[in-house]
Amino acid sequence: MTVINDNNCSWLTNVPRKFFFKTISDNLECNYLVVGAGYTGLSAARKLAQLHPKERVILVDAQLAGEGASGRNSGYLVDTTLNDGFTSNQELENYKKKTDIYDLGIVAVKKFIKEYQVDCDWNECGKYFASSKFQDKKILVNFSETLSKLGYECNLLSNSELTKRLGTSFYNIGLYTNGGILLHPGKLVRAMIDTLPDNVELYENSTLLKWKKNKDVISCHFQNGNIITKKIIFATNGFLKSLGVKKNYNFPITLTASMTRILTDKEYKSIGEPKEWGVLPVRPMGATIRMTKDRRILIRNTAEIYNPFKMSQSVLNKRSINQKIGIKKRFPQLPNDIIQSTWSGIVSRTRNSSQIFEKIDENIFVAGCYNGSGIGVATLFGEQIAIKASNKNTKEIETIEAKNKPTWLPPQPFLNLGVKTRLIYERLRAKSEI
Ligand SMILES: Cc1cc2nc3c(=O)[nH]c(=O)nc-3n(C[C@H](O)[C@H](O)[C@H](O)COP(=O)(O)OP(=O)(O)OC[C@H]3O[C@@H](n4cnc5c(N)ncnc54)[C@H](O)[C@@H]3O)c2cc1C
Repeated sequence: MTVINDNNCSWLTNVPRKFFFKTISDNLECNYLVVGAGYTGLSAARKLAQLHPKERVILVDAQLAGEGASGRNSGYLVDTTLNDGFTSNQELENYKKKTDIYDLGIVAVKKFIKEYQVDCDWNECGKYFASSKFQDKKILVNFSETLSKLGYECNLLSNSELTKRLGTSFYNIGLYTNGGILLHPGKLVRAMIDTLPDNVELYENSTLLKWKKNKDVISCHFQNGNIITKKIIFATNGFLKSLGVKKNYNFPITLTASMTRILTDKEYKSIGEPKEWGVLPVRPMGATIRMTKDRRILIRNTAEIYNPFKMSQSVLNKRSINQKIGIKKRFPQLPNDIIQSTWSGIVSRTRNSSQIFEKIDENIFVAGCYNGSGIGVATLFGEQIAIKASNKNTKEIETIEAKNKPTWLPPQPFLNLGVKTRLIYERLRAKSEI
């Protein structure tokens, strides 16, 4: 079992390449082991090291740290996500629990970038939920009412206003929300790696193959060595299931995205020189599309059940064609060949969209499954699971634990069959928005 990622992602090729890293080549012992070095694992390791400055904290990743979903996402640090309905008080209460967690996630990332003076192209420019379908107005009106009841500022926008702001006349109806930040995920995760405290030992290209608990000892087996630890935090997100962690409560989904080269001055003028923006789809399988600070267009328009360990280049090339069509639909005046890179990334989903944050056994902890909105929540959950593993409590933990727990999933092959059918249905519903 080896995690293999393509190395095409523009966010990652845009930060300096890492040449020096340690791999596990010996037997090691520690009191705290964190598995997975994305936002969750990096934040957990940092917090553990701060809480236990004299302890050795080991952090391992199967690939280079930060090169999983954390360095490959679309960079929307969200305060709200769109859900149909939410009209009754019960639903509103549940939605508030969800946004309370998003808000705490934003605070956690903000605190990190302020403390370490991180440049990650942070832009508090808000975000758009938009659709080309006039009939989606009803969904957006309902959603805007929910947001207004909870005190979020938002405005419905028509085609002409959206065209002015986005440089595409594709969208006929949109909801702009003031909250939400756009950032460079590669720069953010790299900063989390570069600022790890001295008592964190990071081992990369080191896949945890097997683990077991025997009384007070947890033994972890890697290809070239073993780690014996007293406490363990699993932060492997889309790979929790493959390690047998909460395996009946989460499943991996593979996403693919493409980024164009930087638009020339002429191309940029031809689309009206819009400022940086980010659009999220109204229908779940529609495209996420973003104009970056340096005038590139990013598009993500696939979500599928696929072997989470590898997507081949030929399959990626097919997804890239899909993304070229998505860009062309929105910006017909731009040339055909401007996509510079296409990549895949793994997210983790639960049935009821609740995240996982738990002590699953004595000295065994897990945080993950952010259902596609993980930048802030992963940073928050990483810190807070480290605090929980240190037998402490916080208001943040109480807020996280007040949310519904993930619900049970049926076994294979029923799970994949159910998910695939649902994805096909959602894809058909969002056909025009891809
Ligand atoms: C294309 C794409 C677009 C997205 N867009 C957004 C967005 O705009 N906004 C947003 O908030 N979220 C977005 N997400 C989701 C977000 O990226 C994730 O929720 C977040 O990165 C999860 O962080 P994590 O640290 O929990 O997991 P990851 O970053 O996936 O880290 C888990 C790590 O565990 C490692 N690992 C796995 N198995 C093992 C093993 N056996 N041994 C050792 N290590 C192992 C992996 O190598 C990986 O580095 C997107 C994701 C993708 C893929």
